[in-house]
Amino acid sequence: GTLEKIKEEGKLVVGTEASYRPFEYHNAKDEIVGFDIDIAKALSKELGVELEIKDIAFDGLIPSLKTKKFDLVIAAMTITESRKKSVDFSTPYFNAGQVIAVLDSEDQIQNVEDLVGKTVGVQLGTTGDLKVSEIDGLEIKRYEKIPQAFIDLKNGRIDAIVNDLPVTATFVKKVEGVKIVGTPFTEENYGMAIRKDDNELEKRLNEALSNIKEKGIYDKIYAKWFK
Ligand code: GLN
Repeated sequence: GTLEKIKEEGKLVVGTEASYRPFEYHNAKDEIVGFDIDIAKALSKELGVELEIKDIAFDGLIPSLKTKKFDLVIAAMTITESRKKSVDFSTPYFNAGQVIAVLDSEDQIQNVEDLVGKTVGVQLGTTGDLKVSEIDGLEIKRYEKIPQAFIDLKNGRIDAIVNDLPVTATFVKKVEGVKIVGTPFTEENYGMAIRKDDNELEKRLNEALSNIKEKGIYDKIYAKWFK
């Protein structure tokens, strides 16, 4: 199985989409860093192996996991019923929800209902995409990477962005003229995705996750990225 392969090769290969700061992104030195990356490093240390990261489009992560391009996915990925039909998830490791971001000057959009009649940006294949797709009477622009949506929001090409709170909050802190309206309108948990038949890996991964929590490593990583 995959767990044996990981041990034999001495490395854990993780798939992600690295334009999702602070979870996974390219820093100024073009290294892939972030909360998820530190968690993945801590888990590979627990397993006694090296870590290798593969950066691909978000909507390709589950298909590529299934064709064994990597051993698992860690990508701020929400555990959903529909994804659970094709992959398994680790125990939850982070709590988030969808929020709406608009320009500071925007005063009509206060909540989800106000998105009707507007043009809304989302990241392709995400829970934000799914949520917004359930609402009638709005136009959706789907982006491969969420930073592209923020460029379009600034330029006035879209009216709002629906995206995970921690990532949007990071943008709003760094980019002037953009604000979050309302409170999260979904309740979501992130999990690491593994192939359905990888039960040993899943067990080992959950053990490693609870170990890094017990040792205080998880809290340290959390404080580093979210203080
Ligand atoms: N949490 C969201 C999802 O799972 C967004 C993840 C992401 O864009 N990396 O769909």
